[in-house]
Amino acid sequence: MTAPRTSSGHAVVLGASLAGVLAAAVLARRYAAVTVVDRDELPPEPQPRTGLPQARHVHQLWSSGGRAIDQILPGMTAQLFAAGAKCIGIPRQHVSLTAFGWQHRFPESQHMISCGRPLLDFLVRQRVLADERITLRAGVQAVGVTGDARRVTGALLRSVADGSTSELPADLVVDTTGRASAMRRWLAELGAGEVTEDVVDSGITYATRTFRVPDWAGDDFPGVSIHADHRDGQPGRNGQLLPIDGNRWIVTLSGTRGGEPPAGDDEFVQFAGSLRHPIIAELVAAAEPLTSVQRSRSTANRRLYYELVPDWPAGLVLLGDAVAAFNPVYGHGMVAAARSAGVLESELRLGGAPAEFARRVMRGVAAVVDEPWALATSQDICFPNCRTVSRDPRLTRFAGMRQNFADLVGATATRQPVVSAAVVEVTTLSSSADCLGSPDVVVALRDGPTHPVLDGPPFTPEERARLRRSGRAKLAAVTG
Ligand SMILES: Cc1cc2nc3c(=O)[nH]c(=O)nc-3n(C[C@H](O)[C@H](O)[C@H](O)COP(=O)(O)OP(=O)(O)OC[C@H]3O[C@@H](n4cnc5c(N)ncnc54)[C@H](O)[C@@H]3O)c2cc1C
Repeated sequence: MTAPRTSSGHAVVLGASLAGVLAAAVLARRYAAVTVVDRDELPPEPQPRTGLPQARHVHQLWSSGGRAIDQILPGMTAQLFAAGAKCIGIPRQHVSLTAFGWQHRFPESQHMISCGRPLLDFLVRQRVLADERITLRAGVQAVGVTGDARRVTGALLRSVADGSTSELPADLVVDTTGRASAMRRWLAELGAGEVTEDVVDSGITYATRTFRVPDWAGDDFPGVSIHADHRDGQPGRNGQLLPIDGNRWIVTLSGTRGGEPPAGDDEFVQFAGSLRHPIIAELVAAAEPLTSVQRSRSTANRRLYYELVPDWPAGLVLLGDAVAAFNPVYGHGMVAAARSAGVLESELRLGGAPAEFARRVMRGVAAVVDEPWALATSQDICFPNCRTVSRDPRLTRFAGMRQNFADLVGATATRQPVVSAAVVEVTTLSSSADCLGSPDVVVALRDGPTHPVLDGPPFTPEERARLRRSGRAKLAAVTG
């Protein structure tokens, strides 16, 4: 038996979120039929849904993720922009207090695509499901896989409506059920090998509220981020305000264990005011809230090392959060999901024997998730009471050395354009962290900052004029 090279066979995708629909899009180019299964009834317009609780929170899509999606679905990001998503140049169009001080708004080298996650979820799904080879089975939960330790032959499904169960045979099963994935247990039930898991859990809690953009701000007022300082020994508390589609600001506040934001509407602005700078509280104080506060705690960094399972079964691969999920503060999940679907596409093109094909996909996905995993976890272990179960030497033996270098880079980046551009490359996952060792960055690090320390949010003169007109004289007085 060979892996599919022509249009024949049937592939099943479990989960119809970003990783799932992108996987379906690439599978439909190789398989005669693709079935996508989701336990949710999927809304006919951009709306929150039960199986995607994170959609209520800030969902920044870095430019690297946009490029990965466009590679699979050409023109998809243009469609998002046409539907109201904002393109925020980084760092020029964003006001950010980093752990090391206010970031100068140097020219942008990358950008962030900012919209409500329901819009992204809906538009990508609608585009993919228009392919007649793809069938959606909504309201159906995957409860297991069929086959044995050598080969997975299909999925076991249960109707959410009436509890009836059925088997769906498939040449390839793709698990994209996210953090909820039960594949580790299902593999054990088939007698396949043990799967090692790492967890780095800073206990971060998210609290989010959306507001109507005030008239004085207009639709191009910059977003704002206030980051924790991981060096102060306190729980890390962050805030982010982003403009999104529908003339809205989405504001997500977060705190690691011991510094969690409260659930109540009344305390939301108060918590924002207690961050390292109160600007977010001041910006939204008089804005009209459109939602109540929504909280989420499903935020731990969790990685499953499926690629290390000896004798990986043919007919099964996993992508996206089902393999590795990250602290969302860094905004890396959707990039990893889109890139892992890209791995599936390249490996489908190469073909080969089914078992070898599936192993190659799992190794490729492991390579994709490694960088965001290292970035998120090496930062999170700095916060008090972070619970870590990991054998990754980068988090144990070399952690101190890596952190000293990261702190030097971070501190210089706020006031040095070459280092800033390199940091933007790394944090947007546009280049690997190796770019921090390039000769121009090393020289810039040696020579140190070229720009002065900023004593407040660096608004442009034009933005300050808007703040003055709005009566926010205190904020307008800051000259960044
Ligand atoms: C609070 C929060 C904020 C985030 N913010 C960002 C951000 O700013 N930027 C970013 O890039 N990423 C962010 N992420 C991560 C991002 O949401 C995910 O990486 C992204 O959705 C891709 O995940 P996925 O498709 O693998 O899984 P998910 O999006 O979790 O989707 C899983 C799908 O599987 C379905 N499902 C689950 N179990 C079953 C089952 N048994 N049977 C059938 N269907 C099932 C669900 O209904 C859902 O549709 C955030 C995550 C959280 C938790």
